[in-house]
Amino acid sequence: KPMAIITIGMAGAGKSTFVQRINSYLHSLSDSQGAAAEPGGGGSSETNEEEAEGQKTHRPPYVLNLDPAVTRLPYEANIDIRDTVNYAEVMKQYNLGPNGGIMTALNLFTTKFDQVLDLVEKRADEVDYVILDTPGQIEIFTWSASGAIITDAIASSFPTVVAYIIDTPRTNAPATFMSNMLYACSILYKTKLPFILVFNKTDVQPHEFALEWMEDFEAFQEALATHGTARDAEGEPTYMNSLMNSMSLVLDEFYKGIKAVGVSSFTGAGIPEFFKAVEASREEYTTLYLPELARAK
Ligand code: GDP
Repeated sequence: KPMAIITIGMAGAGKSTFVQRINSYLHSLSDSQGAAAEPGGGGSSETNEEEAEGQKTHRPPYVLNLDPAVTRLPYEANIDIRDTVNYAEVMKQYNLGPNGGIMTALNLFTTKFDQVLDLVEKRADEVDYVILDTPGQIEIFTWSASGAIITDAIASSFPTVVAYIIDTPRTNAPATFMSNMLYACSILYKTKLPFILVFNKTDVQPHEFALEWMEDFEAFQEALATHGTARDAEGEPTYMNSLMNSMSLVLDEFYKGIKAVGVSSFTGAGIPEFFKAVEASREEYTTLYLPELARAK
């Protein structure tokens, strides 16, 4: 069975660019495989075996775009919400603003999601990954009934992983970092799916600081302290500081259960590591998510 990758992230974190990158990465692997197989014209049995094994993970993905409001998509989607619902028409017809329009467009699309799932199921034997690109405004997917319905439908049909895309250069202040991680934590709690933190844009800023903060509680506390909220005039820890300290303890537990990779959607750095994390999530899905799903039924 193919694995489904649901990409989620704040607007501007680079979801679409990331989907484009993993899409072209999988295409290039399948192309180079085809090219390598050609000159041999059959080749020895050994290379054939290698090919057969490679084919399991090196085929172009099946891509779904769920963002009705995106104007220019940097990749070609197999299923595009924009082919089904016209977001501008929806806005006009129902007299809605941009967010209401996106929400309603997603709701309309979700009513037909069983058909979408049928299409994906039909192609399931030919692909290794099904990739979902979600609407630019994160809360439209993560806090809506439609988002939950789509996530549950996908996750009950395929091993599924959430890729949470983070704008690394814009999350390097401790307080921002913590807000972002708390948001990620809330999504993990809602979906209960295997989760990968994808620190994007490492070409602008390497993600090592983030890994250090996640691994070393004291390093994060120190970063908090040097950002000036640690002590008040009397030398007592400020309310903000004790709040942040308590929250970072919660996050410490969150970090233990999840994977983190750094990537650049521009250069392609870290993409193979991302796919390793995806493959590792396959087992996690079987051992953690499926029993949970069975209990919920
Ligand atoms: P989305 O709103 O999450 O879909 O974000 P986009 O994919 O539209 O990207 C937002 C902005 O970040 C665009 O200007 C991209 O060119 C830029 N961007 C995306 N990925 C990277 C990256 O890896 N490195 C750099 N430097 N910029 C990136």
